[in-house]
Amino acid sequence: AKMEGKNTYKFFNEDIRKQLERNLLIENELRRAISNGEFFINYQPKCNLADSSLIGLEALVRWNNPLLGIVSPAEFIPIAEETGLINDIGNWVINAVLYQLHQWQSSGYPLAKISVNVSQRQFKENELVDYIEKCLTTYNIEPQYFEIEITESLIADFDLIIPQLTSLKNMGVGISIDDFGTGYSSLNFINLLPVDTLKIDQSFIRGLLSNRKNNLLVKTIIDIGNNLQLKVVAEGIETEEQLKELINLNCHFGQGYLFSKPLAADKIESILFKKLML
Ligand code: C2E
Ligand code: CA
Ligand code: CA
Repeated sequence: AKMEGKNTYKFFNEDIRKQLERNLLIENELRRAISNGEFFINYQPKCNLADSSLIGLEALVRWNNPLLGIVSPAEFIPIAEETGLINDIGNWVINAVLYQLHQWQSSGYPLAKISVNVSQRQFKENELVDYIEKCLTTYNIEPQYFEIEITESLIADFDLIIPQLTSLKNMGVGISIDDFGTGYSSLNFINLLPVDTLKIDQSFIRGLLSNRKNNLLVKTIIDIGNNLQLKVVAEGIETEEQLKELINLNCHFGQGYLFSKPLAADKIESILFKKLML
């Protein structure tokens, strides 16, 4: 038994060492990823649940590295946040999205609103608002076609973010709370911030039909959003049953594999014309 214990300990150390090595490798490779052109963006449709028509797109960054292959943002975004690399990556994403809107606008496509995920760290240097404004001007895009998604982990620094969110809101840029319900003080968050949209976290949608408590929580979030005249978007809808139940609970908007996975920009173009999904 003692031997086993020692072995477990050794394997445990080994796992941690491997993890640290991989994180270091990711960090090193991330430093050159922008200049090497390794990032691209996929767009996931957001739909009106009543008729599956397109109401917007979420931009999701993808990283294809020669050494590591495709690395999930769930793995590299936290490392980018810790190292500060998220500022350059985040700006790259904002620029790429507004350039894409510019391309579509120039080609005569009807535009859909695109939302971009923004990390807390991107508010620190107080340059985010100017950067977004600069890109909107450069690419001649109306601000109502652009939205940011922020998570409740931002709660750490209200004094820092409220003025910046207010500037964006006054500019006409949309503000969406991502993973709503998973943070510590969601209600305070929507009370204090100039928010337009709540996105119900996909973990809540997963238990929608199997768990009564879960169902009641989703119902309550939808009611709060509707009562405050916020747009409520359910994330991670995968089945017809989940869709029916969400409609039943008065949720009007959603996204998930049932409608579409995140797609490359050229795959989105036919959808923009039809403005219809499924
Ligand atoms: P998120 O913002 O909550 O994005 C939703 C994630 O759920 C995406 O994963 C999406 O592909 C996935 N998803 C969508 N529909 C379904 C579904 O029906 N079922 C399931 N199981 N999953 C679904 P992805 O693209 O791997 O992104 C993971 C996270 O990485 C995002 O979570 C977001 O927090 C972060 N992220 C992605 N792009 C960016 C970015 O440009 N900047 C920042 N700061 N974070 C990003
Ligand atoms: Ca998001
Ligand atoms: Ca989310």
